[in-house]
Amino acid sequence: MNEKNKEKKAPKKSSDTDNSFRRKMPWVYVLLLVFFVGQFVLNSFGPTETTWSTFEEEMLANEDVAKIVVINKEEVEIYLKEDKITEVKYPGWKTGARGPHYTFTIGSVESFENRLQAAKENQNLSQIPEVKYTNQTAWFTTILAWILPMVIIVAIWLYLIPMVGRSRGTGGANPFDFGKSGAKLMDKHNKSKVTFDEVAGMEAAKLEIKEIVEFLKTPDKYTRLGAKIPKGVIIVGPPGTGKTLLAKAVAGEAQVPFFHISGSEFVEMFVGVGASRVRDLFKKAKLKAPSIIFIDEIDAIGRARGNAASFRSNDERESTLNQLLAEMDGFGTNTGVIVLAATNRADILDRALLRPGRFDRHIYLELPDLVERKAIFGVHLKPLKLSNEIDAERLAGQTPGFSGADIANICNEAALIAARKGQDNIDMRNFSEAIDRIVAGLENKNKIVSPKEKEVIAYHEAGHATVSWFLEHADQLLKVSIVPRGKALGSAWYLPEEHSIFTKSQMTDRLTTALAGRAAEDLIFGEVSSGALDDLEKVTKQAYTMIAFYGFNEKMGNTSFYDSTGMYAESLQKPYSDATAELIDEEVRKLVEKNYARAKTILAQHRKELKKLADLLMEQEVVEKADLEAIFGKRKLKNQEPRNDTKLTKLIS
Ligand code: ADP
Ligand code: ZN
Repeated sequence: MNEKNKEKKAPKKSSDTDNSFRRKMPWVYVLLLVFFVGQFVLNSFGPTETTWSTFEEEMLANEDVAKIVVINKEEVEIYLKEDKITEVKYPGWKTGARGPHYTFTIGSVESFENRLQAAKENQNLSQIPEVKYTNQTAWFTTILAWILPMVIIVAIWLYLIPMVGRSRGTGGANPFDFGKSGAKLMDKHNKSKVTFDEVAGMEAAKLEIKEIVEFLKTPDKYTRLGAKIPKGVIIVGPPGTGKTLLAKAVAGEAQVPFFHISGSEFVEMFVGVGASRVRDLFKKAKLKAPSIIFIDEIDAIGRARGNAASFRSNDERESTLNQLLAEMDGFGTNTGVIVLAATNRADILDRALLRPGRFDRHIYLELPDLVERKAIFGVHLKPLKLSNEIDAERLAGQTPGFSGADIANICNEAALIAARKGQDNIDMRNFSEAIDRIVAGLENKNKIVSPKEKEVIAYHEAGHATVSWFLEHADQLLKVSIVPRGKALGSAWYLPEEHSIFTKSQMTDRLTTALAGRAAEDLIFGEVSSGALDDLEKVTKQAYTMIAFYGFNEKMGNTSFYDSTGMYAESLQKPYSDATAELIDEEVRKLVEKNYARAKTILAQHRKELKKLADLLMEQEVVEKADLEAIFGKRKLKNQEPRNDTKLTKLIS
């Protein structure tokens, strides 16, 4: 499904160098082998290891020894008399074999001499063989000790560097390639095959980007009249909305070389390479002009510079960014290189990047609406083997808030589920399962839950459901389940209204709903469990947001410590006094307590319904909207029909 899999990974040139490197590689192995075999052979022709006692009792006692040589005061070599060599107790030696025949090591020369003297007396020897002392440098071992590690280090180095290169896409067999950009190139040999047909929806963005293709194809048409062709286009949108896809489509349609690099690749691993990589990238692109450079995740380098007291040194990123700006200023307007960049955080980008003459065109992508989702389903359903009942419109209706990538994912997931079940085609149930899985994680059927735990979980989930049903501003409840999914033991599906702004009461109602799981446990069992961890985490975060950011608290007044510049996030300073910090903490606790009590009150009032729902959950594990309405009655609220661009989420577990 993913576009990335369709392309060849590495450009041609690098795979060539890779191969030649591979071909050379065996030499290293052969060399090592020769070393080890050589050593083995040398050793097997050398003297045999023996021990002092064998030496004393067999060789000395029988007066077989011709000569003793002590080498470097630590090793003794024994030469046997010629006529004794062939005796059976000395296996392996032929007549005339030159010594040394045996060897052993000693602690010190003195102790050796003492033992020799003692042996003479013990064995009643008339005399002991002469002992010579020599010093030898073991050239072979010394050289080996120096060279071998070097050989190994070099071998590892040669082996690792291309891997680093490959991971960056340079394929750089050359270890000195670090300064090269590592951009993946798609050109004549290696074309982007994505066309605008594969990009569904986003008509406005497509229109705008089609113009870029025109610039690249027929620049004269515009320059004739003196117009300047834009240098940079920045595509902004949430993850998975098709930014990369759009850029690839430009390359595919314009049929020009396309350099693809991720912002983070400029600033990995080594300091000081970012700027030279930028330079290298632009040089290559200009050589191939007209061409496109696509920088994904440009926020990795384009983050606003000079943030206050930040601990990390940003020099590297800054010099990379400066180089990028310099390159963009540097190339003339009509060089035929267009830089596309993508980010999901336009807000943190350095202003300098967005100035005219740089990334002066901005394309905004949004999450797809109903019609667009249908179109995206259309694209991704096409290659699948579907049963007749599948209807893109219905699927689009069931996936509010999903991004294009989510939809691609669902289609693939549904196909996998169908294949796993051995079906001949993919049916609607497979899609429902895929959607559930993507929203809430995998069903975990093997998780062992004791009956008592099941009861606690059922009341917990029923608690969330009951409270949300009776709160005016809570989200619309779709279903409740106590089937474990991922880490969560149970879940409630809501169809939240996507608000551009939240009122205080809406946020408060969400808070109460999130606390209702624990409140139900407390109310029914008189004891709480660890099952509310997720809820409490969310509640705490939300409570802090309400008080410290949104100014929803009377004592705090209309102040907000939200920090859109990211200045304080990187430092440990807080933009408020200790007294304020204490006040915030206290007010957060009060807010949570108040809403907890509120949830408990609601549950106490509707205890009957709570019990009914919990029982039903224990019986059938999943309770859908119809059953919920049977228990609680229809929810009489003002405007609960959700807009179709809201996201289906599992808000509470
Ligand atoms: P982004 O770069 O915005 O994070 P991508 O471009 O990588 O997102 O999108 C990931 C995948 O999602 C694409 O490869 C494509 O399969 C799918 N996709 C996203 N948006 C669309 C769309 N508008 N039409 C068709 N497929 C889409
Ligand atoms: Zn919960």
